[in-house]
Amino acid sequence: MSDTHEVTVASVHQMTPDVKQFVLEADDHTFDFRPGQHTQIHFEQDGEEVVRPYTATSLPGTDRITLAIKRYPDGTASTWMHERSPGDAITVEELDGNLYLRDPDSDVAFVATGTGITPMMAMCKQYLEEGSGDAHFFFGEKDEAHVVYRETLDQFAAENDDFDVTYVLSDDDWAGDEGHVQDHLADHLDGFDGRDFYVCGVPGMVVETQDHLHERGVDDDRIYTEGWEGDEVAGE
Ligand SMILES: Cc1cc2nc3c(=O)[nH]c(=O)nc-3n(C[C@H](O)[C@H](O)[C@H](O)COP(=O)(O)OP(=O)(O)OC[C@H]3O[C@@H](n4cnc5c(N)ncnc54)[C@H](O)[C@@H]3O)c2cc1C
Repeated sequence: MSDTHEVTVASVHQMTPDVKQFVLEADDHTFDFRPGQHTQIHFEQDGEEVVRPYTATSLPGTDRITLAIKRYPDGTASTWMHERSPGDAITVEELDGNLYLRDPDSDVAFVATGTGITPMMAMCKQYLEEGSGDAHFFFGEKDEAHVVYRETLDQFAAENDDFDVTYVLSDDDWAGDEGHVQDHLADHLDGFDGRDFYVCGVPGMVVETQDHLHERGVDDDRIYTEGWEGDEVAGE
């Protein structure tokens, strides 16, 4: 286990019906990590230690991180987190993990569903600061009410000529793209050559996106993935 820190919940914001954003503040520590990486929260319940990974959506270099956490009705840690209030103390680990931006000079596509958006938020902020290419953000959700970070992504797209965002909804009848996010990549990208793909969401979506990219001639060394939602919650 890496170093742990006591942090205080500085603010809680209900983003969608089942996702809350938490700002966590350390007393005397600057968080240093690669955007896209995750912490592990630790707490005790019924005499057992519970440990779960959650990804920072904020950039490093300050004493705060933000987490966006979806509540599952039977979920141990997600329910515990949703019961936290400003002023509460939480133990978190140093951030770590394999999903982070590799080359800010390459064109990129960020492809996410559900809470798989969290590493993409941090990476796309870094890309907007450091990147020199074209970025396209694809986000799949069931309906408009469950789309997190829409205001932020729409602002990024409005303020940056080289940043586009596409939302794909599976259950809504709406003016935008419908169905599965991985089926809409070719509709919006000029091409697949010379672009890095960052993919995170339910394991089925991650596998289908990889297959789709392989069919379009994208090599594995340009595809960076993590799958954690759904029946098989992936570990490290
Ligand atoms: C590297 C990594 C980063 C992660 N980052 C985030 C993040 O930024 N935000 C976030 O919200 N989550 C994130 N997760 C998922 C998170 O770690 C937990 O798996 C999730 O919050 C569920 O934990 P729990 O203790 O509430 O549920 P558990 O107590 O472990 O599960 C209890 C029951 O809850 C339901 N359930 C639990 N998890 C899921 C699921 N994923 N899909 C469907 N049903 C489920 C099932 O009914 C399950 O039987 C990440 C996971 C990984 C591996």
